[in-house]
Amino acid sequence: MLTAPDVPARGAGRFAPTPTGRLHLGNARTALLDWLAARSAGLRTVLRVEDLDPRAIPDGILEGQYADLDWLGLTYDEGPNVGGPVGPYRQSERSDQYAAVLRALDGLGLLYPCWCSRREVRKAARAPHASDEGPVYAGTCKPARAAPLGDLDRLPQKRGRDPALRFDVASAFARLGLDALTYADRLAGPQRFDMITRMGDFVVRRVDGIAAYQIACSWDDVAMGCTRVVRGADLIASTARQLLILRALELPEPTYAHVGLVVDHAGRRLAKRDGDIALTELREGGVAPSAVIRLLARISGLPDTADLGALVDAFDLKTLDPGEVKLPPPPWF
Ligand SMILES: [Zn+2]
Repeated sequence: MLTAPDVPARGAGRFAPTPTGRLHLGNARTALLDWLAARSAGLRTVLRVEDLDPRAIPDGILEGQYADLDWLGLTYDEGPNVGGPVGPYRQSERSDQYAAVLRALDGLGLLYPCWCSRREVRKAARAPHASDEGPVYAGTCKPARAAPLGDLDRLPQKRGRDPALRFDVASAFARLGLDALTYADRLAGPQRFDMITRMGDFVVRRVDGIAAYQIACSWDDVAMGCTRVVRGADLIASTARQLLILRALELPEPTYAHVGLVVDHAGRRLAKRDGDIALTELREGGVAPSAVIRLLARISGLPDTADLGALVDAFDLKTLDPGEVKLPPPPWF
């Protein structure tokens, strides 16, 4: 069994961007709300870089994200640039810890190797269900009886292919006596996930040996003492998987608040490819950071000010709308 790591007594909020693209106004809103939630509750602020696969990180993006957050005045007590007691703060430097988490899950008999290609998973999927991670896995490679695999670095190949590792949701449910995964979201309210039928057995280690996001994120929140997670509503299904991992390992759970995503005035999701909303572009184009903070505060129903101290003083998570948040038509600045 994995023991809960030593963490600072004072809890933390965290902003955990994936540096695959530039931060945009929607990311900035999530960062701002997380930061305000932490500061207003007297918590530490942690910046964690979710660069699990460093090869997928384009040049300059990470530095650009740091510069964007600095520019907005969102400073972090701990992070890759400032260090801290529970680092490293880049996931690409934490793979040993994720391997230990996977070994602990394997010790409970909750993992099995899957040799299916993406195409095979799609073909065998139980229509019509699809989850946020794609088709619900049909269980093609699932063994009749769950048992520890042993050395996870020496799993056999099949058809010349190394396996991914999947998490056996039904076995975890049986172990925990669950018929659904439930939790109370601090913003979105009570949540219930029929994970077996709606989500299926998810990948926890990729074919290339890199731990999946669900493992890294759930573990890092615990190991970094992040007690309060504020993040975008697109991750709410991931929360079910992360909570199941934490509960199976009997680790402490953070509280979660999923904030509505920002859409443009026509109701479209903001995408990193939309240049006009990229923070780097605004920063380099001479827009004042105070104007950005003020716009984000306004669309979030917070006081109409760019004064971060005043926003901290006035902040109350419960007053946020968990639904989508619309940007007014441009120009904004
Ligand atoms: Zn398979």
